Amino acid sequence: MIQEYNIRVLPEVAANEQQLKAYLVHEKGLDEKTLNATRILKRSIDARQRTVFVNLTVRAYVNEVPKDDEYQHTVYNNVEGRPQVIVVGAGPGGLFAALRLIELGLRPIVVERGKDVRERKKDLAQISRTQAVDPESNYSFGEGGAGAYSDGKLYTRSKKRGNVDKILNVFCQHGASTSILVDAHPHIGTDKLPRVIENMRNTILQCGGEVHFQTRMDALLIEGDEVKGIETNTGQTFLGPVILATGHSARDVYR
Ligand SMILES: Cc1cc2nc3c(=O)[nH]c(=O)nc-3n(C[C@H](O)[C@H](O)[C@H](O)COP(=O)(O)OP(=O)(O)OC[C@H]3O[C@@H](n4cnc5c(N)ncnc54)[C@H](O)[C@@H]3O)c2cc1C
Repeated sequence: MIQEYNIRVLPEVAANEQQLKAYLVHEKGLDEKTLNATRILKRSIDARQRTVFVNLTVRAYVNEVPKDDEYQHTVYNNVEGRPQVIVVGAGPGGLFAALRLIELGLRPIVVERGKDVRERKKDLAQISRTQAVDPESNYSFGEGGAGAYSDGKLYTRSKKRGNVDKILNVFCQHGASTSILVDAHPHIGTDKLPRVIENMRNTILQCGGEVHFQTRMDALLIEGDEVKGIETNTGQTFLGPVILATGHSARDVYR
């Protein structure tokens, strides 16, 4: 039997499976011998009073063993030789678009005007040290996009428009803590975010996609009323349908 409970417990109970089991045995009348495991499905902290509580949705496995993995794994197959799609921008929009294209059997060609997420850090340090801003590599531009060097709070208003759980699982697959699957306010962490972004890029490359840094789309190639590809500042042109994932700071694009 698998049972789900909404409970309110002290932080030490929420943080320890043995204590959580003891709580369920005591408060919900479960049998200690047959309660094999628990899984936390949702977690939020209520710190409004002097005593802090943790609200949990918890699943109890009675006479059952959890079969589920820690997160849902998405299969990314090799897409070499498949039709290509140009993705302009390697912020969250562009990276997730590229991964989704792979799932659909299409080959993403990502072009990003800024540098990769590690090189970009040096330009951010330069801003603090000398106040010199590289117009192509800064807090807005570069791999990971505008929030890459913030603290990675996973905030969205689009809950009704898409599958947020899928996004969280993809983050876990690329190195984020599985706590983001249960926390009411999921948070990757500044220290971990660059590695997660690199891992996403590596999935794209390993599947046969391309990622071009310091490559800025300067124009769309348009024939008749159809977009055929892009021109870039490196002189390279890329042909294929185009996804513009350039964020809200790329004023030159919209101009
Ligand atoms: C300082 C800061 C902190 C933030 N912290 C958080 C947070 O904690 N949690 C949260 O949910 N949101 C946060 N945000 C908001 C979040 O970063 C954005 O909602 C998100 O980055 C938008 O993603 P995007 O992919 O649409 O665009 P962007 O992240 O802006 O990515 C666009 C990418 O396109 C590239 N690009 C632009 N023009 C071109 C071109 N012509 N050719 C090639 N490449 C191009 C850019 O270099 C950039 O990398 C923060 C934003 C900022 C600025």
